[in-house]
Formats: sequence, C-alpha cells, structure tokens
Amino acid sequence: MEKKRILIADANRSLFTALKSKKGSNQYIFDYSPNGNDCLKKIDTFHPDLVVIDLMLPNIHGIEILRKLKTDPRTKQIGVIMTCANAMVQNYHTTIKRQGDYFLEKPFDSKTLLSLFKLYFSGRLYPEPFTGRDSYASEVKHCYLPKLHSTSTYLKFWGTRGSNPVSGSEYVRFGGNTCCLEVRHGHDMLIIDAGTGIRPLGNLIQESKPKNIHLLFSHTHWDHLAGFPFFLPIYDPDCHIHIYTPIGFEKTAREIFTEMLAYAYFPVRLDDIQASLYFRDIREGEPFEVGHFIVNTQYAFHPGATLCFKIRCNKKTFGYVTDNEFLMGYHGNPNAISKANPRLTPYLSQLKFFKDCDFLIHEAQYTPEEYQYKVGWGHSSVSNAAVMLKYADIKEWIITHHDPKHTDLDLLKKIQMQYDIIDDCKLDCRARMAFDGLTIPI
Ligand SMILES: [Zn+2]
Ligand SMILES: [Zn+2]
Repeated sequence: MEKKRILIADANRSLFTALKSKKGSNQYIFDYSPNGNDCLKKIDTFHPDLVVIDLMLPNIHGIEILRKLKTDPRTKQIGVIMTCANAMVQNYHTTIKRQGDYFLEKPFDSKTLLSLFKLYFSGRLYPEPFTGRDSYASEVKHCYLPKLHSTSTYLKFWGTRGSNPVSGSEYVRFGGNTCCLEVRHGHDMLIIDAGTGIRPLGNLIQESKPKNIHLLFSHTHWDHLAGFPFFLPIYDPDCHIHIYTPIGFEKTAREIFTEMLAYAYFPVRLDDIQASLYFRDIREGEPFEVGHFIVNTQYAFHPGATLCFKIRCNKKTFGYVTDNEFLMGYHGNPNAISKANPRLTPYLSQLKFFKDCDFLIHEAQYTPEEYQYKVGWGHSSVSNAAVMLKYADIKEWIITHHDPKHTDLDLLKKIQMQYDIIDDCKLDCRARMAFDGLTIPI
C-alpha cells in the first residue's frame, strides 16, 4: 500500500522533527512548511493526503489556507488538522464550519498526533467538542489580585480653572470649576481654596455630616472664594469650619467674608451662617498641623498676600501653587537661565522650599506667546514654570489653574507644549494636566 503523505505547516519545526523520529512514523511520508506561502506551494508539489496547519501560520493565516484547500476541487479532499495555541472558540467553530477534520489545541505530543493520523486514514476521525475554556478554568483560582493603593489617602481636584469659571461643550474634558483641592487621609481632610469646585465637594461631604472642616485659602481672589456661599456644610449648625487665610492684605479674613456676604451680593450674611466659623491666621513660614497633615507655607509671586502650600501627609510631600509668577518679565529660552543668573535670585527661597517635594502642583497659565502681554498679572508662562521645576528638582509636575480662555483643545495642545519644553530643557520630569475630578493617591 502506498504511504500516506503528510505536510506539517508550522513556524516551529520541532513538531516535524519529533514526528519523524517517532515509532510508527515510517508508514508516512512527511514534509514541512514554515509559512503559508511555502505551504501552498508544497500542497501543489508534495501532494499531501493530510495537512497539519498551525492556525497562526506566518504569511497566510491557517483559516485562509483551509478555505483555499476546501474551495478548490483539486485539493478539497485533502484532510486538515488545525493546531492552535491559546485556542479560542471562534477559531474552533470556523475550522469545523470550513470542513477542517480536527481542531487540536497545543500543547500536544507527537504520539497524540500519530494516533489522530491513524484515525483519519481509517475514516474514524471526528472533531471533538471545544475544551479550550476548560483548561483555563483551573487557572482562575491562581488569579493575581494586585495590591491596590489605599483609597483613603488621596488628592482630588474639584476645580482646576483659574480666574473665572467656564462652561460649555468646549470645556467638557478639563472642566470649568475654579480652584478647589481636597486632601484626604482617612478621616482627616483639608480643603484648599473655595472656588466654584467646592460646591459639588460640599454636597458630597455633607452626606456624612462632617463635624470639623479645615478650609485653607491661598488668597481671597474671586476664583478662590466664589464657591464659599454655596458650600453646603456652612448651613449645618453642627459643623465647625476652620478657615485659614494669609494675613497682611488690606483686610482681615472676617472683614472680607463679611463684605462678600453683604445683602448687595448674596441673600445670606456671615452672621446668618449656621455652622460655627473659626478664622485662623496663617503666618507665612510657620508650619502648622491639622490632623495628620503638616502644612508649610511661603509667599507666592502674585498680587496681595498669596501663599504657596507644602503639605506632608502619609510620608509624602507635595506642593500646591495655583498663582505664582515665576521669573517675572522673562520671555527668553528657559535653557538660557543658569543657576547663577541674577534673575533667579528673588526665587531662590521658593526653589529651596519645594526641593523636597515628591510632586508639585504648579500653574503655568500662559503660553510663552500669551505671556508677552500678561507680565505682572501674577501667573507663569509654561517655559518659566519649567525653569522652576528644573532648579527645584521636581520629578512630577501637575498643572492646574487653567486660563478660562483655554478650551479643551487648547489645553491638549498645551500639554504637548509642556512635553516639548521639558524635552528641550532635558528635564527628568513627568508632567500632566489636572482636570476637575482628577484623583491622585498619595
Ligand atoms: Zn487664582
Ligand atoms: Zn489670584
């Protein structure tokens, strides 16, 4: 009887080699194809009775070879055993539908294959039900469950817009609320600034009826204050709200809040607020503790008494600076500012202040082009802020206090500008843009 001819089409030659040395294999003539193109040629020249095709055959997919074989009257009688690693049920069904004779999941040994050859050539080889998923079922109990970072210690940006809130379809991605940051460590919570972002934060925290709230203000410009009258906990008689403000700008905090809540501006006066309010002065440079937080401050370069914050919590230190004009009046290349440049002198203590920060939240409100027309407005250009990162040795920079003129599209372009400037300055720093809702575990 003439020996049956079997073509092994598989990128890995080892199956072919193993088969040839196996007992019982000498009743067959084997040939080998490493890829789809070669396989189709060998089908024409070697004239196999049976082809063992790997589904992921290079050049031409195993299913396509099967289709060609079974739709050509000259080759449709050739038997096909489809082999496959990481088998998926869809491939199994396609193989059987396209008249493949058997679907064999890898790994298998050459002895198994020889027994399939025997069955095929005696007309007794039939496809078996798909079992691919069964073999993975036992793996489930070994499922890797990554250890998740604590969800109780984090920063959350409730407002990332500077100057003025914005809304509309062009501001969906980054959001439109003005400055408000929640810093949380278990039951301890700090809120920095009461821009319009504090309104949704207040609605949420009021659900848990907080007894004590610590609210810190960098300064009392509108974009950091406007949400205060809409902060729900101020209407809770059981709530004690500690308001921390910098001292030294024209009025006391109590005077500013009293005037803001005059009937001419708002129907509720400061005296009508039900929560107990405690006004606390922040003395620049004097650290203070709130729960597990250690808060340090330094003046920012901004009109009026404005503070930069440095907060230590959960063994991490970060800076939060929403309004700071670094390198005021400088429009040149950031690489041209050497460490000894006299332009840096006024900022040396600020650089030192942020030196130990694990990450820094710092504004960069203007592009270098825009900054030409905004000198003295109290905000930095992206390129000048990059100089701060360089000399404060900051490894992670989060940008907030976005200009109200900057739409989502503008901010996406600005992110690219940040990356380009960081590249140009060869900084070892990762940058990202804050948005309303951004939460960062610390
Ligand atoms: Zn501001
Ligand atoms: Zn301001």
